[in-house]
Order: sequence, then structure tokens, then C-alpha cells
Amino acid sequence: MTLEHDAAFPAVADIDLDAIGDNLRLVRSTAQTATLGVVKADAYGHGRQQCAQAMMAAGADYLGVAQLAEALDLRQEVGPEPRILTWLYAPGAPLGDGLRADLEISVGALWAIDELATAARKTGITAKVHLKVDTGMARGGIDLWNLAEAAGKLRAGVAEGLFDVAGLWSHLARADEPECGLTEQQIDIFEEARHIVDAAGLDIRIHHLAASAGALWHPKARYDMVRPGIVLYGVSPNSGYLSAQQIGLRAAMTLSAEIIAERTVPEGTGISYGHTDRTDRPTHLGVVPLGYSDGIDRKASNVAPLVIDGTRTRIRGRVCMDQFVTELPYGTTVGERAWLFGDAEFGLPTADEWADVTGTIGYEIVTRIGARVPRRYHGTGMASSRAPR
Ligand SMILES: *Cc1c(COP(=O)(O)O)cnc(C)c1O
Repeated sequence: MTLEHDAAFPAVADIDLDAIGDNLRLVRSTAQTATLGVVKADAYGHGRQQCAQAMMAAGADYLGVAQLAEALDLRQEVGPEPRILTWLYAPGAPLGDGLRADLEISVGALWAIDELATAARKTGITAKVHLKVDTGMARGGIDLWNLAEAAGKLRAGVAEGLFDVAGLWSHLARADEPECGLTEQQIDIFEEARHIVDAAGLDIRIHHLAASAGALWHPKARYDMVRPGIVLYGVSPNSGYLSAQQIGLRAAMTLSAEIIAERTVPEGTGISYGHTDRTDRPTHLGVVPLGYSDGIDRKASNVAPLVIDGTRTRIRGRVCMDQFVTELPYGTTVGERAWLFGDAEFGLPTADEWADVTGTIGYEIVTRIGARVPRRYHGTGMASSRAPR
């Protein structure tokens, strides 16, 4: 959903496309590999088309989305040039549409190879395939013990002109915990997978394993291409290990809203549904018109930080569907802005701080900001809008 009357909505998510460009350039120069920019889930809530274009402008080699449906839409949005990888679909999915849209399609199950072969035969289009192997997620991908069979099927398809096997890939389960040792084990299993696939006679061009955390913190996982998502939006894959600011990332999303009511209440006043908070002194309160329908988690009730008039404050009482109450600094009036999160460099709380106090990860904070909140775009991704730190 996009609102036709954005200007009538009293909150906005400002999206800095130059920040996305800078973050992508940072990953590229760190990893020294090809880069696939992940724009699934509406670019983690930032707006798929705009972010995809910014990433391409900043030099991304590929775009990636999870769902086939997203990939088909993305192709319409970015035109025929960018290479697009997609990896999530169910049996019976319209893979022929994917081939006509020149998508590169992951196969992570034997049934997927069969269905893609059928689609290639029907359309007469050679499918560009990325073979996905599970190296330790127990999620997407073919298990090592089925890999020879999968590779054999692909080899037969190549001989028939149905397949061009562009990539071999996998996904890391604990790359955000650099000391835990699992990533090294997954790399070993990925190497085994390579041998199996080589032995089957497949000639694969791109090996890729690392998302954001792998790209930053596991040089051996970088292979030919990295697949960053969250870092491109300026959020750390693990802020307990290194914050976005420590990594040198710039937050792409800044969420703010107008204060639409204010009042000073006496000591002992119960606030919002359930009176889960009560004033312990005369208190200046304001109403912010964003709620859980906009993706402000109800767990943010009473705890999430805000900046108003340059002063840190917090949500008071329960977050409602469309609004919440906050404490206002003395002298703040209706019409001033409440800043929920953005870049730490500007003195704002970060998505990661919101995640800490609500028991989740920064990914979920930005991705959940609802479609009702208008996005306002700045920059292009091409140039840096401020000097690097
Ligand atoms: C979401 C996703 C990514 C990006 O992950 P981040 O942690 O956001 O960088 C990369 N690869 C796959 C397969 C994904 O599903």
C-alpha cells in the first residue's frame, strides 16, 4: 500500500539513498569481491525500487530477493539490465515467468531442479541456475548426501541446453558470532560441496556464501561474491559485537513523527491502555501518531528511546494501534518532531537500540515499519552526501 496523500500523514521514514551507496561501497572495498545487494522484503522496509536503483548506481553486480514474486516485480522496476537472483518458491510456482524475466533462479531441492527443467523445456529458455547446498542451517539447500544426485541432474540439463549453472552457494547460520567456529565448519562443508559438484563435471562461475556478517567478519567466506542485506541499510548484523557506527555504516532510515498533542499532568496520572505507567511528578506528555499498525512493536511500550528537541526521552505507557504517548522535554509544543531512530552520528537512537529494548534485532525494527508510513527519498546512491568518518 502506498498512500495517495503522503503529506497528510504526520510521520515519515526518510531514506538516504546515498547512505546505502556508501554502505555498499564500504562492503565492496572490504570484501574485494562481486556484490549482490539484497532487496527482499521491500528492501528491509526501505522501498525496493529506489534502493535497488541506488545499489546499482553504487556498483552492485547483482540484486537479490527471496521470493520469486518479488523478483518478478523487481524486474519490472529496474528494467532488463541488472542481474537478479531469487531463491524462495514452492512447488508449482511460475518458474517459466521467472525465465522470461531473465531471473537467475536458485535450486535448493531435487524437486526444484525437476520443475526448473520443465520450465526451461516449455519456454525454450536456458535457465541460469544457482545450486544451493545446505552447509549447516537445516533450512534451504540440498544436503551434502543428495548433492551428487542434484549435480547429476543439472549436468544432464546442461547437456540438453536447459541449464547454465552460474553459481554454487550456501548460507551461514552463525556468521554474526565471529568466534563461535561454526562458519569455519560451514566453509569446510562448502569445500566438500565444491568437490562433489566439480566431480560431476559442472563448471561453476560464482561461489557465494556470505551475507553481511560473513562479508565483514569472515574473509574466507567471501569467495567470488558477497550478499549483503542489513549492512547496506546501515544496521549492524550484530550490534553487540560491533555497532553500525563502529563498522562505519550510515543508517539509511530515519523515522520521525509530529507531536500532535501535549499536556501537563499531575503526579499519579495513569498513561495509555492499562495504565502500565504512572507519573511520579508533574509531567509534560505528548502524543506521537505512530503505533503497532505502523510497526512500532508493542514491546516498545515504556522503554523505547526518542529524541525530541535534542533531548532523549522515552515512550510512556502502552503503544496503541495508531499512536503512543511520550514524555516531552519542558517547552516542547505541538508540531515539533519526535525522532524515533536514525543515525547515531546525528545524536539519534539507532534501530539497534530499539532492538535491544524490545528483545529483537535491528533487522526487524526497520523491516517492520509499515506501508502506511510514507517513505521520503534523498540522494541517488551515486555520491556520498557527507564526508566519510
Ligand atoms: C536475507 C539474506 C541475505 C542478506 O542477509 P543480511 O544478514 O541481511 O546481510 C543474504 N543471503 C540470503 C540467502 C538471505 O536470505
